[in-house]
Amino acid sequence: MSAAPDLSALPPLDVAGRVAKVVSKLESAGCDALIVTKLENIRYLTGFTGSAALLVVTPSATLLTTDGRYRDQSADQLEAAGVAAEIVIGAGGVQLDAIKLLCRTSSAVGLEANNVTWSSVKRFTDALGDKLVATTGIVERLRIVKDPGEQARIAAACAVADEALSSVKNRLIEGPTETEFAAELEYAMRQRGGQGPAFETIVASGPNSAMPHARPTDRVIRRGDLVVVDFGSTVDGYRSDMTRTFSIGEPSEEDAHLVSAVAVAQRLGVAAVVPGASGAAVDGAARESLTEAGYGELFLHSTGHGVGLDIHEAPSVAASATDILASGTVVTVEPGAYVAGRAGVRIEDTLLVTDSGCRPLTMSTKDYIL
Ligand code: ZN
Ligand code: ZN
Repeated sequence: MSAAPDLSALPPLDVAGRVAKVVSKLESAGCDALIVTKLENIRYLTGFTGSAALLVVTPSATLLTTDGRYRDQSADQLEAAGVAAEIVIGAGGVQLDAIKLLCRTSSAVGLEANNVTWSSVKRFTDALGDKLVATTGIVERLRIVKDPGEQARIAAACAVADEALSSVKNRLIEGPTETEFAAELEYAMRQRGGQGPAFETIVASGPNSAMPHARPTDRVIRRGDLVVVDFGSTVDGYRSDMTRTFSIGEPSEEDAHLVSAVAVAQRLGVAAVVPGASGAAVDGAARESLTEAGYGELFLHSTGHGVGLDIHEAPSVAASATDILASGTVVTVEPGAYVAGRAGVRIEDTLLVTDSGCRPLTMSTKDYIL
């Protein structure tokens, strides 16, 4: 078994300069302070990995407030990341008072509209009144282009997933249930240093494979099945995402056609991932290919998405996506075709956009007959 990824051998994450980038975006977002509520955004900006916190960014000061469970961790992680911020530890009321105090001279305080509940909006409104304004995507847009440290962590998560799949995939011909195989795959990732699945592992066999987001069941995987395996690992918070579809024994002629049509569409989608391309262009390349093969109606989802601290993040790779892919962006290309009641196929790679095209970070073989 290969060793766990050695984080100290990877380029360091460049966390310390990120808050300043948020500050530079405030004016165009119509505010002069921002309350960051989404934990992945807080992690991105400060290195803090706890399960509860609020971060407030203003042009003159940064405040992280969390509860007593994270008194030591928050100080240690911000120091390690080189982030200069005031840290206030306490329950909800203490946290709100600290935010109110910091924002007393702010005229418009942004709140991440996509990451708050009704009740939390009410609490912030009670504290800040009509200074509160809704913002979307300020930090998420900064997260689109990954620095070398982030790229290395996503690549390491992809390598963990590749190695784990290669170590357990022949188990598929021994008749495990979907649930058993999913557990074995997740354990194999843990053994290789993955810090847990990047999302709920999908193992969907036979007719279940026609459901793009099926949950593993107690169905026994058997000869003649197509099996969609969609999974990922996590390294230092960064995720990987890969799908392979296997045939247990020789596929039927129809299933073989389906697999090769999706494989061609996936290759064409990958070929369209170049700097300057729109997400819509990548989606179009894969979708037109499946449409020409007669399977366009069976492609039930968009072609891909960004991957990083979140499994689904900007940029979008969909028919409606206006996002332009820039060098350093990490996206998936994952066309599929799903025949209700019979079988489905999806093939997915995580890709790094380079200066000249893209480089696959997931590298498991696409030979699919076991
Ligand atoms: Zn996936
Ligand atoms: Zn995906």
